[in-house]
Amino acid sequence: MTERRAQLAENLARVEERISSACAAAGRKRDEVTLVVVTKTYPASDVRLLAELGVCHVAENRDQEAAPKAAECSGFTLDWHFVGQLQTNKARSVVSYADMVQSVDRTRLATALSAAAVRAGREVGCLVQVALDAEEGGAGGRGGAAPDEVPEIADAIAAAEGLRLGGVMTVAPLTGVYAGRQRAAFERLMEISARLRAEHPAANMVSAGMSSDLEDAVAAGATHVRVGTAVLGVRPRLR
Ligand SMILES: *Cc1c(COP(=O)(O)O)cnc(C)c1O
Repeated sequence: MTERRAQLAENLARVEERISSACAAAGRKRDEVTLVVVTKTYPASDVRLLAELGVCHVAENRDQEAAPKAAECSGFTLDWHFVGQLQTNKARSVVSYADMVQSVDRTRLATALSAAAVRAGREVGCLVQVALDAEEGGAGGRGGAAPDEVPEIADAIAAAEGLRLGGVMTVAPLTGVYAGRQRAAFERLMEISARLRAEHPAANMVSAGMSSDLEDAVAAGATHVRVGTAVLGVRPRLR
């Protein structure tokens, strides 16, 4: 366990260095970017070590895994982010531990999250997940709404009791015009964010960038990067 702790500390330091360098290169202040560590497939013991090492934000993508893990870490002050594709029948469970749902991609999901949040007496932050490969019509392969659907979903979140509209999120697409062009993809997300902020000035969160492309996200203007592999190691292939 001490060995794991040392390994996580070393990985965190390296990621911190990457974020700091990317901020410096972009002329941004380090505190403009929040690190969210994606802990999916890794045990609650790792989450607890991360919390002890100063991590404040963790993310999960499957409710079945996240719910028990969050319960096992209830003694720590952590913000839990949900970043996976989410069915409406899981809204109640997710709202019981998540502070932020980054993957809201349809109005119906916002409605379900709102009902669950009201019932739980909680306020849940929501980001609209944008699928940049849905631009030519099709739905995003990794979840997300087409860019032209963002205003409607954002308005629904903003109007919903129990929800707070935080901003936008994306995963760099594997297909479409932005495939392999992370920087351009994240710049497109910034345009979508600017348009959103014109209507909802407080919705200024931009979640973009993962282990392989966090520098591109910081350069484009992301406020949150979601890093898994670079902190915890390469995930087991299944799941
Ligand atoms: C797994 C995951 C990440 C982290 O990816 P890494 O490449 O391991 O850093 C970020 N965002 C989402 C939505 C994920 O599912």
